[in-house]
Amino acid sequence: MIPYGKQDIIEQDIKAVVAVLNSKFLTQGPCVPAFEEALATAVNAKNAVAVNSATSALHIACLALGVQQGDYVWTSPITFVASANVGRLCGAEVDFVDINLNTYNICPINLEKKLIEAEKVGQLPKVIIPVAMCGQSTDMASIKSLSIKYKFKIIEDASHAIGARYNGQFVGCGKYADVTVFSFHPVKIITTAEGGVAVTNDNKIADRMRLIRSHGVTRDIKMMNKTSEGPWYYQQLELGLNYRMTEMQAALGQSQLLRLGPYVKKRTELAKLYHEQLSDLPIELPTPVTGSESAWHLYVILLHDKLRRKEVFDTLLKKHVQVNVHYIPVHTQPYYQQLGFNEGDFPVSEDYYSRALSIPLFPAMTQKQQDYVVHSLKDALR
Ligand SMILES: *Cc1c(COP(=O)(O)O)cnc(C)c1O
Repeated sequence: MIPYGKQDIIEQDIKAVVAVLNSKFLTQGPCVPAFEEALATAVNAKNAVAVNSATSALHIACLALGVQQGDYVWTSPITFVASANVGRLCGAEVDFVDINLNTYNICPINLEKKLIEAEKVGQLPKVIIPVAMCGQSTDMASIKSLSIKYKFKIIEDASHAIGARYNGQFVGCGKYADVTVFSFHPVKIITTAEGGVAVTNDNKIADRMRLIRSHGVTRDIKMMNKTSEGPWYYQQLELGLNYRMTEMQAALGQSQLLRLGPYVKKRTELAKLYHEQLSDLPIELPTPVTGSESAWHLYVILLHDKLRRKEVFDTLLKKHVQVNVHYIPVHTQPYYQQLGFNEGDFPVSEDYYSRALSIPLFPAMTQKQQDYVVHSLKDALR
């Protein structure tokens, strides 16, 4: 079976993890801060806060930005459910902005229309979570200028996009988003098994995310409201969680991070080859966004004929090509339907979903495997 995505673990990664297992700290040691520093440097951000998943990173980002009951959080219907759920977990109302078929992400024109309507009824969002779908940053400059006019914060869900660039700068550099989140789940660009990180250039937001990541508890005297009672002393300043990353995960992450550049390069080459070899089929290929250099987490094609999607999917599976579909529109999930969303609410997203197919793409993919995928797809579409 050729998987749609797959982690790449080398001897160096294993050694790094084993070294931690033989060391003094399995958690709350030196590896997490070292990984955070390396990661912040890699994406040109001031602060990185590593946690046990990207979902946790999105959650602490929302909490640190003060999202609460009575607030509105908007995201794309075409994302993993976590991007929307974190708003709900903070007690906020969640809404969606329909995508366009160029970016597979929030359409800035739809966004502006929706903001104008929301302003009239006094329901402007506190936070918008655009998704760097497939590894490609969306039109962040437009979203950023709307954020200034309508006073919302931006959390970029770049779970797919570590190592990607936008307007010549790394995603996560903080020029467009208040907080950017990356995931280290094994199918993503680099992995820590489970894990994620929130990066920000705002020191206050970073401090607050660090606090919330670990029970809202601090041992930093400067943050306390009275003098320390002794070396054991700590204070809980607000309500927090235990979202900490382990030392083993951080060591794996730091080892993987050394290969971020080569991974993105390999993914880009594979995507280019797909582009050349699939261009005369009855499908739409991913369109590059101007100024964006994708990390190519996913290669999503859109079939012209939605009625054939299941058949093509099944045929490829039979040929041991593990295709996938990213994503089922979040507003069509039973949980969101209970909240009042209906099929038909976001027609472009639903059309996208009905025709989408993610074909295999991972750094260890061989030429032979890619040729086989191309060949099988051509057969399946015949
Ligand atoms: C993977 C993913 C997440 C969740 O990441 P975890 O690290 O598994 O919590 C969130 N959003 C998007 C777009 C993702 O692809």
